[in-house]
Amino acid sequence: MLRRPLIAGNWKMNGLKAEGLALVDRLLALRGRGPTPFDLLICPPATLLDPIASRLAGSPVQLGAQDCHVGVAGAHTGDLSATMLKDAGAGHIIVGHSERRANHHESDDLIRQKAEAALAAGLTAILCVGETEAERASGQTMAVVDRQLRGSWPATGPAARMVLAYEPVWAIGSGRVPSLADVQEVHEGLRQAVSTVIGDAAVPLRILYGGSMKPANARDLLALPDVDGGLIGGASLDAQSFWAIALASPGAHA
Ligand code: PEP
Repeated sequence: MLRRPLIAGNWKMNGLKAEGLALVDRLLALRGRGPTPFDLLICPPATLLDPIASRLAGSPVQLGAQDCHVGVAGAHTGDLSATMLKDAGAGHIIVGHSERRANHHESDDLIRQKAEAALAAGLTAILCVGETEAERASGQTMAVVDRQLRGSWPATGPAARMVLAYEPVWAIGSGRVPSLADVQEVHEGLRQAVSTVIGDAAVPLRILYGGSMKPANARDLLALPDVDGGLIGGASLDAQSFWAIALASPGAHA
């Protein structure tokens, strides 16, 4: 297969140390030691990066953070730089999640700088785009994700360390998912749009789907030709569900 699926869990603001480590232990027990035809990534709260990194030592399960500041260091009370997150064990950083766009009024330009900061620190950036329900209802989905993509795609840094995630805002945490045809249409459109920016590097780019992905719908979503994995919120907080989604990847055997 051209693109190896990436199954990424976004824990959001969930998990104290004991429960986070217990979740990791359950996931490691389910995963076992053998090779898998997919990559597995968990993005816990920043407070858990360091203890979870220790727990994951020697494991192929990857670790990521959920956001970063655009700077490297300085007078930014409460913020964390990509370099600090890397130091705590992160190899990936999610940028532009719709909850940050909405709750923290993050602009495409700020998100672009965050992606550039992640790449400059040597990390992989997972850039999220997605339309609201009103935007979909008024037929603006492609225009919105295209605008977000062009406004927040990094101007510097290697495209090989970028991952894109299509997350319709109305599907996040709602139990609702676009039709398979709609998901494929957006993913294909996004790949085409990225190719106008980075050319052939868009071919190996992984484009994840996110928004109420569950064990029951994962197989169909992950089988779509331009869906290269999932960004999973709620279901990633349950090791069984997260693992079941991973096993629904093409080529994996449940
Ligand atoms: C998310 O917030 O990235 C997400 C996809 O959440 P959920 O899976 O809970 O819809």
